[in-house]
Amino acid sequence: MDQNQAHYPTIREIEIPVKFYSFDSSTPFVHCVECDLDLLHTFTPYFIEKAYRRYQGYEATDVIYEFAMCMQCAENMRNELSPESRERMMEHMMTKMDAFQRSETLKAYDPVADSDRWLSECILTHEPIEKQEEYVIYGMFKGDKMLVADFPYAIGTNAMDEITELLSAKTLGEIDDFMGKHFTGPPEVNELIGPRRPVFF
Ligand SMILES: [Zn+2]
Repeated sequence: MDQNQAHYPTIREIEIPVKFYSFDSSTPFVHCVECDLDLLHTFTPYFIEKAYRRYQGYEATDVIYEFAMCMQCAENMRNELSPESRERMMEHMMTKMDAFQRSETLKAYDPVADSDRWLSECILTHEPIEKQEEYVIYGMFKGDKMLVADFPYAIGTNAMDEITELLSAKTLGEIDDFMGKHFTGPPEVNELIGPRRPVFF
């Protein structure tokens, strides 16, 4: 985010919502998926990304994948993506997400009591997340707190498809490598992960 922009919301720190706990352990994430850094006991900010799938006609959702990554590793990963992909993705997101409008709307809500408001619609297409077959949620954290400003946010199926279209073969390969390294599993799991989705570092 460009600090010179007029839009620069105040950052609030709140307890980590259960939604951002690890599905595997039902507790907050402890380690960076890449470098194993202890995230809860350092001052390094980190990100959590969780992808969900919803089955038509059912209330329940499945977690397709989830990870926490420290800021340093996220930066390293970003640097490995092709500059063209990075640029196209940034430009697309800046055009579609109305950051100013979003922060104006969210001003009316309390980050603790209404934290679901931040995740209620796709940040790019503004479609309701509860109608999305697949969606991803992202948040930014420090120690045992979640940072609330533009984060957290959610991205739905259509927006992910649009972004995937913008990525180069090299970048899609990098994402495949990352997913393969951390989320290899039985064939049915790999099938769940497909189709190719952008991963945001
Ligand atoms: Zn790391």
